Amino acid sequence: ATPTALLVGTGRGAQLGILIKGPEVLESTRKVDTVVLDKTGTVTTGRMTLLAMHTAHGTDEAEVLRLAGALEHASEHPVARAVADGALEKLGSLPVPEDFANVPGLGVQGIVDGHAVLVGRERLLADWAMELPGELRLRKDAAESAGRTVIAVAWDGEARAVLEVADAVKDTSREAVTRLRGLGLTPILLTGDNRAVAGSVAREVGIDPGQVIAEVLPQDKVDVVKRLQAKGRSVAMVGDGVNDAAALAQADLGLAMGTGTDAAIEAGDLTLVRGDLRAAADAIRLARRTLGTIR
Ligand code: ADP
Ligand code: MG
Repeated sequence: ATPTALLVGTGRGAQLGILIKGPEVLESTRKVDTVVLDKTGTVTTGRMTLLAMHTAHGTDEAEVLRLAGALEHASEHPVARAVADGALEKLGSLPVPEDFANVPGLGVQGIVDGHAVLVGRERLLADWAMELPGELRLRKDAAESAGRTVIAVAWDGEARAVLEVADAVKDTSREAVTRLRGLGLTPILLTGDNRAVAGSVAREVGIDPGQVIAEVLPQDKVDVVKRLQAKGRSVAMVGDGVNDAAALAQADLGLAMGTGTDAAIEAGDLTLVRGDLRAAADAIRLARRTLGTIR
């Protein structure tokens, strides 16, 4: 590969909104045959909104919003933003938690107004030996079948409510998946979110139901990439979150959304400046073409 040709390739990349860490990155695209796509913030906008709430018998809705909103206000997760914004909109202000901890891939926990509060996946509640009452479980299942992300709210040892949040698939994602396929790549959707939501997003953008890997904890995303590589695949990974950084670094080609976190951008080989997934296809096509001209 002549350095001049590679630099022409990187210059064209900048025009397309693709920042390339170094000319050597282009080499990695040659064999890539699989593209792993993070869901939240990569395929979807990552801007979630609180759509509905269901409370257990005798639980006050405003109390759910106050306690859950207060905790989530301290987190930067897209789900947390949706809950905090929804709560602030209804209540005007929120208490400051006395204690707060982020539980990656599961939710948040802490103390608000003297109550021990959990907000997150059902699995987080299970870790504290709590389960959803039957009425809330039915609500959760129905909402998830409809493609919504459902999180639970518990305090003082009891599950009290479920919240429905959702974000939208970016309007460019479907075309991006078609283009990636056109380059001969197999797209795989990878997410910490639940299977039903993941399946519904996959359907919307045209990813095979068999190529959906859901309910993966942040620290396990990198293992998914390793497993694919162990099977002989050459893997491109596209992600935006702190939870994607290790997988981006492990991948043969890491593509970070420029709209995402610094951790992802630092871990990636390429940055898609505008956060448009179509640029992932542009990047791979450009790299192949650049290499093609110099072979
Ligand atoms: P993704 O892989 O799609 O980017 P994450 O791994 O960040 O998603 O999160 C997985 C799931 O964990 C979310 O869909 C949500 O159900 C739950 N979760 C994570 N953080 C929070 C939070 N702060 N509050 C509530 N739920 C959360
Ligand atoms: Mg993400």
